[in-house]
Amino acid sequence: MSVSVVQPSRTAWSRLRPFGARQVDLRTGFWADRVRINRERTIPHGLDQLRRAGTLDNLRLADGYRAAADSTGATLPFLDSDVYKWLEAVGWELARGPDPGLAASADEVIALVTTTQRADGYLNSYVQAGDGEPYRDLSWGHELYCLGHLIQAAVAWHRALGDDRLLDVAIRAADHLPGPLVDGHPNIEMALVELARVTGDRRRLTTAARMLELRGHGTLPGARFGAGYWQDHEPVRDAATVAGHAVRQLYLDCGAVDVAVELGDDRLLGAVRRRWDDMIRTRTYLTGGLGSRHRDEAFGDPYELPPDRAYAETCAAIASVMLAWRLLLATGEAGYADAIERTMYNGVLPGISLTGTRFFYTNPLQRRTHRVLDGAGPRLPWYPCACCPPNLMRLLSSWQQYLATCDDSGIQVHQYAAAEVRTELPSGPARLRIDTGYPWDGRIVLSLLETPAEPWTLSLRVPRWCRTASLTGPDGTIAVGAGMVKRHRRWQPGDVVELSLDLPARITEPDPRIDAVRGCVAVERGPLVYCIETADAPGRTEIEELIWDPSREPAVRPRPDVAEAMVGVTVPVLRRRSGAPATAGAIPYFAWANREPGAMRVWIPR
Ligand SMILES: [Zn+2]
Repeated sequence: MSVSVVQPSRTAWSRLRPFGARQVDLRTGFWADRVRINRERTIPHGLDQLRRAGTLDNLRLADGYRAAADSTGATLPFLDSDVYKWLEAVGWELARGPDPGLAASADEVIALVTTTQRADGYLNSYVQAGDGEPYRDLSWGHELYCLGHLIQAAVAWHRALGDDRLLDVAIRAADHLPGPLVDGHPNIEMALVELARVTGDRRRLTTAARMLELRGHGTLPGARFGAGYWQDHEPVRDAATVAGHAVRQLYLDCGAVDVAVELGDDRLLGAVRRRWDDMIRTRTYLTGGLGSRHRDEAFGDPYELPPDRAYAETCAAIASVMLAWRLLLATGEAGYADAIERTMYNGVLPGISLTGTRFFYTNPLQRRTHRVLDGAGPRLPWYPCACCPPNLMRLLSSWQQYLATCDDSGIQVHQYAAAEVRTELPSGPARLRIDTGYPWDGRIVLSLLETPAEPWTLSLRVPRWCRTASLTGPDGTIAVGAGMVKRHRRWQPGDVVELSLDLPARITEPDPRIDAVRGCVAVERGPLVYCIETADAPGRTEIEELIWDPSREPAVRPRPDVAEAMVGVTVPVLRRRSGAPATAGAIPYFAWANREPGAMRVWIPR
């Protein structure tokens, strides 16, 4: 049995079913390359960094074999979670294909986690190395947050590999909980639902549902950023808008969707959907990035979206993909897949270098020249608070699971990549090959390799950014608009369907209520947001000196100098002082900061 990263129960109120980890293979092209780099470079780099940072030593500390006074054991309460996220990534990777070296490393880490667990089931290195008293600081201690990540890793190993070593640890650790508690950092809620799905133990689901109900009544002490920081200001089913720390809010809403679909709780699901709609409309960057404020890593007011001071933590983009995926499964609505696409390309990928070993924690949409001269931030190999890098690892290692879904009527393809998809429809097995050079090329060819004799429906998402699209199939060619295009027929092996998405460079104007970028434009092509870097400014002009020239059109241009197969855009600009026309090169925003240090901007003034 092959099951996936989020797996609603058969009885759950869920429209679509995910494909299992082994039912989708990425073959070649953009995503296959990114996922391969994650496997071959990022995950090994992650283990190395967990060692260097002392994060693995922390678990040894807890186990009592801290021999050296100069132990490098780092001291932040949530670091165990990075070990678990790394393990989750390795679990999905080993399902994709064997790697004896990676498996041996994971065995070592699992053994370390297992021996660190106390006899009574409790497991948290920070507390164990300290006074050993559990659940004393629910506000800031991150104990349930870490437990949530342990459970998620355990669920991945169970589903991907049928390996229950971590699941045994996770169940004992979850059994140690004295009951439903409210943790300052949500995550435990969605983890407990997944644990219920894996074990069939409904008590986990009841606990998660109760945790959601307890939050929102100002119960967490020490709210130095206000109760909204950890969503303790209003009950989860009442709060009309997202609030506070972006990752906390989005993880909480993931848990709320999971509970809602398992319990058929329409009102709870409706609350999350309303918050999501409002967030997309008023608090989301063009890149899909979330979180406008550095001070408390928080959402800002509506339309408070400064490009230069954007926080847009990589983890918030990842959490947004996780939430949109749950909402897509629950509702089947294409808008959630649109959001996943925008956020994956423009909110998640900028957090990792093209080499796979350097990371951004925050993802501003502008870096000024003077900030570069001040030495502002190249990507780093790791962070003292290293939540983002292993979060990237686990998402990329499971990314192929987000491409398509099925239901009793057929298959829905949501994201485009060269891949092969296999599933069992009610009337028999179906196998589909997808060939495409997406996102550089808008031609997507789907070939039926195997199909039941009975008719079924193939659904393809036409992204909302796409203004001209056509579908060619056995019935001829038709123009199609944004949303899910459905073709119901008696398919034959060898049938081919071709979706053509027109990909001109396009100019995007911001919502006029976003004061910080009023009067600017951005360049987009297909699902990609573009940016200008110093390296591509005409005559090495400071990019602050360039303004957009509306009298000329942008054009596409290959950029193999930045990355293989990359398509760039040439942007017509004027020099601010002389008014002289010039042309600047723009590259996809996800690829910025991979060359010499320089300034960058997404929004270009008129
Ligand atoms: Zn993070």
